[in-house]
Amino acid sequence: MYRSHYSKEISPNEYNSTVTVAGWVEEIRNLGSIAFLILRDKKGTLQLTILKKKTPELFERFISLPRESVISVKGLCKENDKVRNGYEILPETCDVLSLAETPLPLGVVDKVEADFDTRLDNRIIDLRKPETQAIFKIRNTVLAAAHEYLRSQNFIEVHTPKIIASSSEGGTDMFRVRYFEKEAFLAQSPQLYKQSLMATGLDRVYEIAWYFRAEEHNTRRHLNESTAVDIEMAFINDEEDIMNILEHLVHAMWKRASECSQELEILKKVVTIPKLPFARITYDEVVKTIQQEKSPIEWGKDLSTEDERLLGEIMKTKGEDFYFITKYPLTSKPFYTMPDREKYSRGFDLECKGVEVSSGSQRIHDIALLIERLKACGLDPKDFDAYLKAFRYGMPPHGGFGFGIERFLMELLELNNIRECILFPRDRTRLSP
Ligand code: ATP
Ligand code: MG
Repeated sequence: MYRSHYSKEISPNEYNSTVTVAGWVEEIRNLGSIAFLILRDKKGTLQLTILKKKTPELFERFISLPRESVISVKGLCKENDKVRNGYEILPETCDVLSLAETPLPLGVVDKVEADFDTRLDNRIIDLRKPETQAIFKIRNTVLAAAHEYLRSQNFIEVHTPKIIASSSEGGTDMFRVRYFEKEAFLAQSPQLYKQSLMATGLDRVYEIAWYFRAEEHNTRRHLNESTAVDIEMAFINDEEDIMNILEHLVHAMWKRASECSQELEILKKVVTIPKLPFARITYDEVVKTIQQEKSPIEWGKDLSTEDERLLGEIMKTKGEDFYFITKYPLTSKPFYTMPDREKYSRGFDLECKGVEVSSGSQRIHDIALLIERLKACGLDPKDFDAYLKAFRYGMPPHGGFGFGIERFLMELLELNNIRECILFPRDRTRLSP
């Protein structure tokens, strides 16, 4: 068995003893009589120092190793304060576990940044870079925080079908799949199922899963396959109960991210924890505010990307990175959204620095109203039979939200492109790797 001794875990009490380390050959510097090899694993790097005179055979093997090969080395660990991590290893034996082919399609430590497509085409190598890995380590941490927070609030984790018979919101932007002799769709959200669960007595559920959207536009903040945290909860008074969970969830995730000091240092990012509660601004106020700034927005329409950006700037001057836009017009929200006074709804978005990170609402729980709204949205209630059944035999008031994980990470780490936040992105042109 190979014991990979992480560089940072070699403690001073191991100095002057024999250790075994394993990892990827990051760099070899051959100075003639002495060579240095930088070995890397997920915790960092360490230095192997090889003296030609002392171990001539090993020296020759080391200097001819292709970069990124995987080796396991046994040797003496010696304190050396000239080396970055305070020690070096003087190898005695070396096992080559896997030789890397040359040339590498992408350098791991090259100073010149490769273009993004080359990085994504060679993602397994790109993922060896500490800065790429740091994003996924933070992703792991914030997701753990999401599970913990939601469970602490008595949510139970569920998993709903991803192959579905009818679309959540009317069939647009859905990937169609052949399901034996029928046609099916890939789920665009867990909307209809998580709502159905509210009729079961499982009154607080959450799901962290994949969703598929056949949106043609290829933007820096849309993916065709993405992941989200979704919740649904029953016996609510109004959408404020949902917003309360959402802001605490975001706060918990953001706070945990701020504790990832090593990763943030690698990424050169500072994460400032937002204060609670987040600001609330009504849709009407938003329209008024951005119209003053010359936005062409018409009342009743959803905000364009440019409108969102503009609002983000205005809110920034007020010291608000996070804010809810509340009381959207009914016409700009999906059919299941609870109406509020004639033309408004109990739908909201959570924005972070001018970008939508979540949408949610109180939902309609009255079946007659739901059927009316389906029709008003040009949908055929017959296509929603299975969903509507959940409303026929006792359905409490409820609501929830969908919160995109990559969108969140992109904002958290101020990354330029959402593709940075998912291992193997799917977009309009990319289906591989
Ligand atoms: P947008 O207006 O930004 O396209 P949306 O309103 O269509 O988003 P919702 O249906 O409200 O998206 O989905 C809930 C959340 O899921 C969004 O707030 C966002 O965080 C995330 N999300 C939606 N679509 C995508 C996508 N194509 N790629 C990545 N994340 C997405
Ligand atoms: Mg939305």
